[in-house]
Amino acid sequence: MKDLLDLPREQLARTPTPVHEAVRLRAALGADCPRILLKRDDLTDLAVGGNKARKLEFILGDARARGITALVTTGGPQSNHARMTAAAAALCNMRCVLVLSGPGPRADVGNLMLDRILGAEVRLLPAEAGAAGEEDEVTRAVLGLEQTGEVAHVVPLGGSNALGTLGYAAATRELLQQLEGGPAPTRLYHASGSRGTQAGLELGARLFGAPWRVHGVAVSGGEPEKRRSAHRLIHDAAALLGTTVEAAEEDLLTHQDHYGEGYAIPTAAGSEAIALLARTEGVFLDPVYTGKAMAGLIAHIRAGEIGAEETVVFLHTGGVPGLFAMGARPA
Ligand SMILES: *Cc1c(COP(=O)(O)O)cnc(C)c1O
Repeated sequence: MKDLLDLPREQLARTPTPVHEAVRLRAALGADCPRILLKRDDLTDLAVGGNKARKLEFILGDARARGITALVTTGGPQSNHARMTAAAAALCNMRCVLVLSGPGPRADVGNLMLDRILGAEVRLLPAEAGAAGEEDEVTRAVLGLEQTGEVAHVVPLGGSNALGTLGYAAATRELLQQLEGGPAPTRLYHASGSRGTQAGLELGARLFGAPWRVHGVAVSGGEPEKRRSAHRLIHDAAALLGTTVEAAEEDLLTHQDHYGEGYAIPTAAGSEAIALLARTEGVFLDPVYTGKAMAGLIAHIRAGEIGAEETVVFLHTGGVPGLFAMGARPA
């Protein structure tokens, strides 16, 4: 098996990110609340931080080795992935075209504003453009870049390909090192979207012997296709390292009760979670991803599903710029 460090990698994230115990959050959730550790990947530092920095390290390492000079990627108008891809491209002297469509505020605020500051070329499609419209625009962008002599590379939605998946395998090793000597967490909760993060966490847990079960909290629908693609990502990423792991589709746990009406549509429980973490710990979550994930963890704690003697890691995957575009409407 190859080591993760043997693969081409561009240093984009400032790591290790902090881990700290949410003592006041635990107190607020009552006597039966488990110990909660926050793994602060909102502080990966690349352009306000977030989970995509770790994925992009491997994606950009590979792109550079292949002589790529321009990146094209897709996402919603408030995509964190688009913002961080724009930043990664800037750091690597690459051009960047963002094809943005789907739900989310289109005003020049939040991530969309940051995309423009980062120098990306933004192509904002109308809400009704659909998947076909997005695909056409990506093709046009690639052709346009190639006509001006660029070598273009399309980064998949959310950076969720096999290379990107390695980011959270590496993060698992980092977290295990940080937790050495302390109580072993039984669960790791995180916001799960395109599933690259979850696939990486599942792969890392197997490669490095993590004691916890990964609990993805879905931020949008799409089962069972997404479960299938997570499964595929685990095995494809393992293959990049020249190894195999045991992971069946049924082993992947992604809770489906917390995304509400759909992607990027805030929920009341998410807004409550955002306010609670802000008021107890001074840490902001976001309305699209981490607020919903924390709402899932809080629901499980309140339902008595997690023992007070357990230790839980909550992986904060970032997304805070979305708060400036969408708000959280706390009670
Ligand atoms: C993209 C993103 C996620 C989800 O990661 P996936 O790998 O797409 O599942 C979670 N949180 C934030 C803040 C994100 O931007």
